[in-house]
Amino acid sequence: MILGALALLLAGCIPHGSRNLPPPRHGSRPPAQGQGSAVSLRQCLSGLARADIRYRLLDGRQAGGCTTVNTVQLTDIGVPVTNLGAMTCPLAGRFAAWVREDVRSSARYYFGAGLARIETFGTYSCRGVNGVAGARLSEHAFSNAVDVSAFVLDDGRRITVQYGWNGDDRRVREFLRAIHSAGCRRFNIGLGPDANAYHYNHMHFDMGRGPYCR
Ligand SMILES: [Zn+2]
Repeated sequence: MILGALALLLAGCIPHGSRNLPPPRHGSRPPAQGQGSAVSLRQCLSGLARADIRYRLLDGRQAGGCTTVNTVQLTDIGVPVTNLGAMTCPLAGRFAAWVREDVRSSARYYFGAGLARIETFGTYSCRGVNGVAGARLSEHAFSNAVDVSAFVLDDGRRITVQYGWNGDDRRVREFLRAIHSAGCRRFNIGLGPDANAYHYNHMHFDMGRGPYCR
């Protein structure tokens, strides 16, 4: 149980080593919603198009177990988002829905404002879950995760996970927790500042094996 939770946490975006790691697991990546088959990719892409989500299909590459095969880059989902690179189609679709439906409506509800921009730390990154060679790869290595760091409202206000999550403004705290919870319903895994020290400044969402939300 504890090991399972640890493994899920480590499926996140932890970039550095930790003393309390489970042993490395080679070749044991669990099935997850990600690159998938050509048929499921086509179905997913047509779903994006139906939702009026603009994207471009990327020339996929594989190296060192990391992959951007069968991935897209979102180009227009109705709200500008910084630093979006390769994403698996299921991740991209959930992310667009989260931004449009959950984050936008929460910004309206908590601040009476529109959403001008979302800032992320990116998506694809070829790295292990703990930065140690031989460790299991992060979902970021499969283009299957996104790290969200800040939200800019159309009144110019900028809300960061780093300063807002435990900050003085109760509305900001509630807004961030509301969209984190909404993200946990959209994605298979949702991690935030309460998950561990590595997530002090962003929310991590991925489509690896879940559900797990913290
Ligand atoms: Zn991450």
